[in-house]
Amino acid sequence: MKLIRELHESINEDSKLIIFCDNKILYDQSKNTYTFKIKDLNPINHKGPFLCIASSESHRIYVLEVNKNEPILGLFMDPNSVNFVDLRQILGFLDQSSFLIASRASILSAWALNSKFCSLCGKAYSFNEAEGAFECSCNNAPNYPSISPCIITLIHDDDKILLGRSKFFPPNMYSTLAGFIEAGESAEEALIREVKEEVNVQVSDINYYSSQSWPFPAQLMLGYFCKYIEGEIALNDMELEDARWFNIKELPIIPPDTSISGQLIRSYIEDHSKL
Ligand SMILES: [Zn+2]
Repeated sequence: MKLIRELHESINEDSKLIIFCDNKILYDQSKNTYTFKIKDLNPINHKGPFLCIASSESHRIYVLEVNKNEPILGLFMDPNSVNFVDLRQILGFLDQSSFLIASRASILSAWALNSKFCSLCGKAYSFNEAEGAFECSCNNAPNYPSISPCIITLIHDDDKILLGRSKFFPPNMYSTLAGFIEAGESAEEALIREVKEEVNVQVSDINYYSSQSWPFPAQLMLGYFCKYIEGEIALNDMELEDARWFNIKELPIIPPDTSISGQLIRSYIEDHSKL
């Protein structure tokens, strides 16, 4: 699958559509899929151009934003199985390549929706095919999709790990700490600052683990392990409801291993148990 950003005037019948409405994605629970063919859907009244986000030899993938009141389901689609859902709800069911495309679709759909007019002069944007970006004749810089880098980190101290929970989490779920990288900061500087701000502890020995796209709305999570140095846990801002040390043998509910947070925790425990 080749990742592209192109606008096409029409969509052929082999194409797959990813459909969003109010930040929710159309999902078929019975088939575990979020891609649909035109023939699956109610006749679509949309006129082009359509945003193509990926292509392979057999088909292209487009994103489409529809209105709330638009009847999108075709005659043979079961409304009990096909619904608009929050993308977070289905990430755990997707394999890695499906995750990539769903994440990309969500980010680019929002980008296209918010790229109608030039922010300098207010004129309507045109699309630069060569750049795959929106632009304006006033020479404002091309408007590319933007992604916000964030750090996410597992703080460890031998057989203990420090986890926190936001008030939006399900009961008894705790996760690794995360935060946005400020303009001018390196990822490592952001990590040290965020950990100090959120839980008041000092860390060092920062080791990169891996990264993950996190389309809420458009983050790239850079995952790290770091070692606890000193400090008593104190919640310094409004982000966390609680944070505490957990022995790795007595953990609360942790995020699934489809999320980088779950992967960091499980990876640390696996490596630590080999010592
Ligand atoms: Zn302009």
